[in-house]
Amino acid sequence: MTSTNDIRRSFLDYFAANGHAKIASAPLVPQNDPTLMFVNAGMVPFKNVFTGLESRPYVTATSSQKCVRAGGKHNDLDNVGYTARHHTFFEMLGNFSFGDYFKERAITLAWGLLTKEWGIDPDRLTVTVYHTDDEAFDLWKRIAGLPDDRIIRIATNDNFWSMGDTGPCGPCSEIFFDHGDHIPGGPPGSPDEDGDRFVEIWNLVFMQFDQSADGTRTPLPRPSIDTGMGLERVAAVLQGVHDNYDTDTFKALIAASGALTGTATTGDNQASHRVIADHLRTSGFLVADGVLPANEGRGYVLRRIMRRAMRHAHLLGAKEPLMHRLVPALVAEMGAAYPELVRAQASIESTLLQEETQFRRTLVNGLRLLDEATASMAPGATLPGETAFKLYDTFGFPYDLTEDALRAQGFGIDRAGFDTAMAEQKRAARAAWKGSGQRASDDVWFDIAEGSGGTEFIGYTSEEGEGQVI
Ligand code: ATP
Ligand code: MG
Ligand code: MG
Ligand code: MG
Repeated sequence: MTSTNDIRRSFLDYFAANGHAKIASAPLVPQNDPTLMFVNAGMVPFKNVFTGLESRPYVTATSSQKCVRAGGKHNDLDNVGYTARHHTFFEMLGNFSFGDYFKERAITLAWGLLTKEWGIDPDRLTVTVYHTDDEAFDLWKRIAGLPDDRIIRIATNDNFWSMGDTGPCGPCSEIFFDHGDHIPGGPPGSPDEDGDRFVEIWNLVFMQFDQSADGTRTPLPRPSIDTGMGLERVAAVLQGVHDNYDTDTFKALIAASGALTGTATTGDNQASHRVIADHLRTSGFLVADGVLPANEGRGYVLRRIMRRAMRHAHLLGAKEPLMHRLVPALVAEMGAAYPELVRAQASIESTLLQEETQFRRTLVNGLRLLDEATASMAPGATLPGETAFKLYDTFGFPYDLTEDALRAQGFGIDRAGFDTAMAEQKRAARAAWKGSGQRASDDVWFDIAEGSGGTEFIGYTSEEGEGQVI
């Protein structure tokens, strides 16, 4: 079996052999982009190169980029544990051309890697193109020999990428692997495309136009290429399993959580073990890149992820803090490729231990309150927003943790009621502050205090537009 570590290496070597500079992953906290919460695609560290603001000593590059999608528009948090193919942390393998080669070579290289270098059966591959992109359609036909019905024209923004309201943009072409008709799901563009049968493994973006403020698109003088392939998804394909969570890396992490909790990793426990394995990776990599749990911003995303994992550890019967004891398994799997994990191991462990120790004090009482509240609820009912707010405010339950807890039992939450309770609390706190006779300028201080207090962070929305991701 080819290990995930071998697949990463093989991808980078293939593109290096084809003239690409190998570039190390950038940190998860964006270096030049305060509007973006976490790096969520391989192209992010190259944005300024694509726009021409920055030049580098190479015109083609390849990388395996650490990505987190757990906030903002690309939020895959709710999928984790429930689909075969989504993680909050994953690695995006990419090859990039900065005004060098374009569609033809991008397709030739991608097809050559998948079907020749890696030997994937071409009959299991289906591609999409943007509906007007006849050029890409014809190239797939000629280079890959795909029949017309496996080159699917898509008219939505899924197949049109742009960096922002202005700037580089263009059609894209996604490559799907068919895991077989024993798995529910339809081909791309069909009504049940969200199933796990046809899994998108690779997205090729053809940066072809420059969009101006009035919406007109002019051809770029030197069009570029940006591609992104999910390492965990292609590992599943190459290891002959359907599910990302059955690949070597995840199997090792899940085995560790099974051993530490003394529980079976299948059946009713499966989702909990998957959430724990996924969130362990995200927590470990975020701490290694300098993020610490906090009540706002990036730190709150981390706290939500940690606490959510901790609830699942509790569900599996863990009586003591658990997550920190899984860090050695994470380092064993991924430390060779990402030495920052090895360097940060002690700090990852102590951060997890501290957060879990603190959260355990309120977790049990909060869950008891939740059980009492749901005991009287009819099947399919929604939890009152005030109860969700109380869990948040008094017991430190992030909103999505409560939502995740209820989901397993088929209950929803009154989100509007939660927001109203939150707004009311802020209003009351502000009024009490004003009534204290402090000078108006103290409002500034209040904003800061409030920001670092109980404010729930619901993700940056200004971040992405259709823009900054593939
Ligand atoms: P999907 O439609 O499956 O959510 P996407 O179109 O949002 O994927 P892209 O933005 O095109 O994904 O990212 C490029 C590649 O990264 C995808 O083709 C996929 O292989 C991988 N990928 C995207 N999101 C995730 C995730 N949450 N977990 C694992 N891999 C992912
Ligand atoms: Mg997605
Ligand atoms: Mg997609
Ligand atoms: Mg895509």
